[in-house]
Amino acid sequence: MRGLQLRAGSDEDWESLCHGCGLCCYERKSIAGGVRIDLTRPCPYLDTQTSRCTMYDDRFRVAAHCSKVTLLHALFGRHMPLRCGYVQRYRRFSKHGEGGVQR
Ligand code: SF4
Ligand code: SF4
Repeated sequence: MRGLQLRAGSDEDWESLCHGCGLCCYERKSIAGGVRIDLTRPCPYLDTQTSRCTMYDDRFRVAAHCSKVTLLHALFGRHMPLRCGYVQRYRRFSKHGEGGVQR
């Protein structure tokens, strides 16, 4: 399966699935069928104009709530935005989160 090969590949391959929407950097709440994103509550390190992290290289040190997206998150993470590049790539292998609400 290409997906598993990709995860086992380079970090660069994996990171390339992120299209930089920044949606995972807002407060999120899993709800029935998907996730609700509060666009009024960004992470303090998010530049909301560019949707870029201002502390990217140090993000795991400075932001306890920040974690690397894994294949398990992509497949089953209830908090993952359905428009996320990882979810779009892998969620078809699971039914989790289909038809969710997002705003
Ligand atoms: S620290 Fe993490 S959650 Fe916050 S803006 Fe950076 S990547 Fe997003
Ligand atoms: S939601 Fe997914 S695609 Fe968007 S910034 Fe986060 S990891 Fe990247």
